[in-house]
Amino acid sequence: MKIIVANWKMNGDLRFVDKFIEEINSIKSKNIVVVCPQTALIGRFYNFHYHLGAQNCFCVENGAFTGENSPKLLKQMGCKYVIIGHSERRMIFNEQDDLIFQKWKVATDQKLIPIVCIGETLENRNNWKKVISKQLNLFLDKPLGNTIFAYEPIWSIGTGIIPADNEIISAFEFIKDLLGQRIPLLYGGSVDSKNARSILSFNNIDGLLIGRASLKISEFKKIIQI
Ligand code: PEP
Repeated sequence: MKIIVANWKMNGDLRFVDKFIEEINSIKSKNIVVVCPQTALIGRFYNFHYHLGAQNCFCVENGAFTGENSPKLLKQMGCKYVIIGHSERRMIFNEQDDLIFQKWKVATDQKLIPIVCIGETLENRNNWKKVISKQLNLFLDKPLGNTIFAYEPIWSIGTGIIPADNEIISAFEFIKDLLGQRIPLLYGGSVDSKNARSILSFNNIDGLLIGRASLKISEFKKIIQI
């Protein structure tokens, strides 16, 4: 059984949301399937048969923070998971490791399952060990509970470029050595129905974090049925 998470960046028509929910609900999967839509859509998933997650949360439980999303409310809205530190948050919104750690703490306090994203830019491709060690540093001496991590090389997200087999294997070995074998670790970056099975066959890979392919219903159906 693998963990298949959709970072479901749907910004279009609500009718597509309903169609997606209906079609995915009709499919049986032996995997843990989690769909993380943008917060505005979470209520629309009230009848979804699989798990629901958020794409981000605020670093404080609740309070007067106009425009931010309280982890406590996300939980009450039916989210079981929350993605934290996605590279788009790190790069576009300039989220730093300490803020990401703060969000992890609050999410954990609210009994949300955090999916913490790590990964290096193309510029830092040769320095990936250093980048990943820094991103993980604050987590290493903490009780990680049921936290999930996702290794997403940023140069692979949305580009169609997948790291070579040996690159994936050594990254997973390195990260699992740091975190411990027990902590689930997902791969993310240009996964589709054609490459999903072979990526999942590598040692140490507990699941996938999927962007674009989760917006194609036929693709996502194939992936969750692996
Ligand atoms: C993502 O958005 O986290 C992602 C992995 O995207 P894609 O699958 O499109 O590369």
